[in-house]
Amino acid sequence: MNGVVVKSTGSWYHVRTKSGKLHKCRIRGKFRMEGIKSTNPVSVGDVVDFDLEPNKETGVIIKIHERSNYIVRKSVNLSKRTHIIASNIDMAFLLVTIDNPPTTTSFIDRFLVSAQAYHIPVTILFNKVDSYGEESKELKDELEEIYTSIGYECIEISAIKGVKIDKVKQLMKGKVTLFSGHSGVGKSTLVNAIEPSLNLKTLELSEQHNQGQHTTTFAEMHSLSFGGYIIDTPGIKGFGIVDFEEDDISGYFPEFFKLKGECKYHNCKHLDEPKCAIKEGLEDDRIAASRYFSYVQIMQGEEEHFRQDIYTPKK
Ligand code: GDP
Ligand code: ZN
Repeated sequence: MNGVVVKSTGSWYHVRTKSGKLHKCRIRGKFRMEGIKSTNPVSVGDVVDFDLEPNKETGVIIKIHERSNYIVRKSVNLSKRTHIIASNIDMAFLLVTIDNPPTTTSFIDRFLVSAQAYHIPVTILFNKVDSYGEESKELKDELEEIYTSIGYECIEISAIKGVKIDKVKQLMKGKVTLFSGHSGVGKSTLVNAIEPSLNLKTLELSEQHNQGQHTTTFAEMHSLSFGGYIIDTPGIKGFGIVDFEEDDISGYFPEFFKLKGECKYHNCKHLDEPKCAIKEGLEDDRIAASRYFSYVQIMQGEEEHFRQDIYTPKK
């Protein structure tokens, strides 16, 4: 049989078949040791083959299909190993608010870079547009222009007033979607507007909670009544930028990628090199200053402490 892992509890994986039936599956001990070097060999989002056990209810996973992408978190206990949070993600929505709370461009860019590295397309949702004053509106327009010109779709929404919710739903149809953004940007409000029956609330994952040695949180996939899934990802505090190779980072800035062939040195890092096309692009506004600033920050390995909040179903 074949299905998608929609939930994992550590020892059991809930697999949903095409017909919608859920089977609790295990993996064989032997299977655990093969392949991937992560603390969890099977993750939410995985497409798996499984054999039903004689009781016809539970199953044993025998194969994981190749993942189109996956997001990881460094394991707390085994620092060298990673934990796969979710796989086969079709799309991410990044919620941005200008104030209340402010979203920094460096937060936005780090998220975009990670998503780019994981091959996850991102749509930026400017939320709370019902509440913006003149100044915030200007800033929002500026950001929208920057990101649209790079190629990211931007939508102005109001989760509370129901503005453009249909458009968001339309994009989600038939896809596996992840929502991200600072705490307070309106993720739970938006998800509830999209699918009231999910009744999600934001889990304010406190630092203490996260540091607990035995605290393990698992992602979960919720199906949407109009087709598609939302991935609920407890414990992600941004994606692991730390693992990227320095040389790869500029490739995750699409607008840099277009220009870098024009740099004098083919291995130009776009930092101190002469005749750098990216820095020239900065001067004539083909590259936004905020984007270049984020790039330098990431290259220098500065860790901005940002958190990504998460949904958890009301228990
Ligand atoms: P989360 O932490 O990202 O899940 O954010 P919440 O959904 O809990 O929303 C945080 C606050 O922002 C709540 O007080 C919401 O009522 C408010 N909020 C959410 N969406 C909107 C919106 O579109 N407009 C306005 N004005 N407030 C919103
Ligand atoms: Zn350069």
